[in-house]
Amino acid sequence: MIIPTEPIGSIPRPLDLIERVAQADGEDPRLAPLYEDAIRDTIERLEATGSPVVTDGEQQKHHGFADYCVDGLANTAPDGFTIPFADGHTRRLSRLTRGPFRYRRYADCYLDVALRYAHVPVKQAVISPSALSLMYTAETIPDYSREQFIDDLLREHETEIRRCLNKGAHKVQVDFTEGRLAMKLDPSGQLLHSFIDLNNLALSRFSPDERRRIGVHTCPGNDLDSTHSADVDYAELLPSLFELKAGNFYVALAGERDRRHVLNIIRKYLKPDQRIFIGVTAPIDPRIETPEDVRDRVLEASEYIPIEQLGTTDDCGFSPFFDNTSTSRDAAFAKIQARVRGTALAETLIGARQ
Ligand SMILES: [Zn+2]
Repeated sequence: MIIPTEPIGSIPRPLDLIERVAQADGEDPRLAPLYEDAIRDTIERLEATGSPVVTDGEQQKHHGFADYCVDGLANTAPDGFTIPFADGHTRRLSRLTRGPFRYRRYADCYLDVALRYAHVPVKQAVISPSALSLMYTAETIPDYSREQFIDDLLREHETEIRRCLNKGAHKVQVDFTEGRLAMKLDPSGQLLHSFIDLNNLALSRFSPDERRRIGVHTCPGNDLDSTHSADVDYAELLPSLFELKAGNFYVALAGERDRRHVLNIIRKYLKPDQRIFIGVTAPIDPRIETPEDVRDRVLEASEYIPIEQLGTTDDCGFSPFFDNTSTSRDAAFAKIQARVRGTALAETLIGARQ
């Protein structure tokens, strides 16, 4: 019996890389060796934790998890949708100024580099169509309707996932952090439903086999040790989330106030062909979890979720935005090691019971 365990994606970048990117253009070719070093070191250290699946730590997503694919486009402006965090700080997405909408880069370019260094399977995170749909702000763009935009967006997203799958990504994880936020912005549920419908239009383009390698990540946001939607009850999100036609779900749980309440909802709405990776470490919590903490969280979850549908992950990436230094690299790797060891401890106990 195996309980799979996977990271979400980002690892805090080395401080000298963050400083150099702040001083220059993130795409300055002179930064290439620094990115390469950061990726190699990230993968080495992830493999040293015993992690059976690794990522490139998103070392090259040099603004963040959401806009890496559009960063630098001539037809965008920086004053797009504002993400409000609970501590008062904000982050902004880019805004589309004219059509047509095209990605500037697909995430498989990161996979290319990671695959050169990794000795174990590599997973790739991509941004959701629903997050990018926020780039088309309320007013219309002349000669480029919202319908045309959505067509282009879905095609670009599908292309990105296919490129990652074709190159052998272990999983492609669609980051859907705006799902829970949607219920905060629009408690009627209309915005969330429009997000679910849009993402399902994309997921429907893949075969059942392909969807077994596609997952969706949800969390209450994570930046500078703050969240944007932790106050939204998961009961508002999870029933809709599991309507998504994906084979895997990566759900932040370690940082929840009442984990059993959440596990009850998961038990009720999880479908038989879906695997759920529950968060067993909290990047936002400075305390490093012990393997025993993780073991106990897995055992707790196993009371609600069939073992063959259970996996573990971290609640979120450790640094979704490039310049965030609120968690150190050492702390991130220590938490990941606890996740890997604690999951193995639980596996042994549950295995002996069966
Ligand atoms: Zn997250």
